[in-house]
Amino acid sequence: MNKPHHPTRGLLLMVVAPSGVGKTSLTRRLVSDHNDLHLSISATTREPRPGEHDGRDYHFVTRERFKEMIDQDAFLEWAEVYGNYYGSPKPPIMQALERGESALFDIDFQGAMKVHAQAKQDSVLVYILPPSLAEMSRRLHTRSQDSEEVIHRRLSRAKDEVAAWEQFDYVILNDDFDRAYADLAHIYHAERLKRSRNPWIGNLVGDLLKEEI
Ligand code: 5GP
Repeated sequence: MNKPHHPTRGLLLMVVAPSGVGKTSLTRRLVSDHNDLHLSISATTREPRPGEHDGRDYHFVTRERFKEMIDQDAFLEWAEVYGNYYGSPKPPIMQALERGESALFDIDFQGAMKVHAQAKQDSVLVYILPPSLAEMSRRLHTRSQDSEEVIHRRLSRAKDEVAAWEQFDYVILNDDFDRAYADLAHIYHAERLKRSRNPWIGNLVGDLLKEEI
């Protein structure tokens, strides 16, 4: 019996981690290894960092434009983070789901919870845990993109988020990149295979049960 080519129902994969835990490398690799997974490019009012490109890392917009987008209901969710606005544009996400494909969200804790509240069946919440706050602080200092004050705020926010670990479907420890990546890829594959995301299995089973033995 051949596997019919009915589409799998896509999922909204939300990967949350404090900054400096390697989330960007993990999520970018997952997206580049899977044609059916699309990165949701957020809009933000913050300034681009060196090396960041408009349309690839973020859609960099003015506060006025961001407010217009809120009024037009153009976001699945939006939030203010460290004094800037960030939001997930709705149309590309809806289009991916309609094609049976999936979207990966590289967003913060509050954003992930908002998407989850709206789309419980479709969303999968993953938290990436740093080996320790000391290691996270070391990575943030090495990256040297943030002031001492911002680093301190990021560390204290990380502590609050980690305390909410039971709200996530999966928690991955990133003390070894390759292992953490394998864990993330396995989660994505298993979630795609879930019975509830593959309604065509019902037809296949129906046909199978009609067969004479
Ligand atoms: P950064 O400025 O370091 O790129 O991002 C700051 C924080 O904003 C990160 O925790 C990041 O995950 C979060 N963020 C990025 N895009 C979005 C978004 O569309 N919505 C929400 N709620 N948070 C976002």
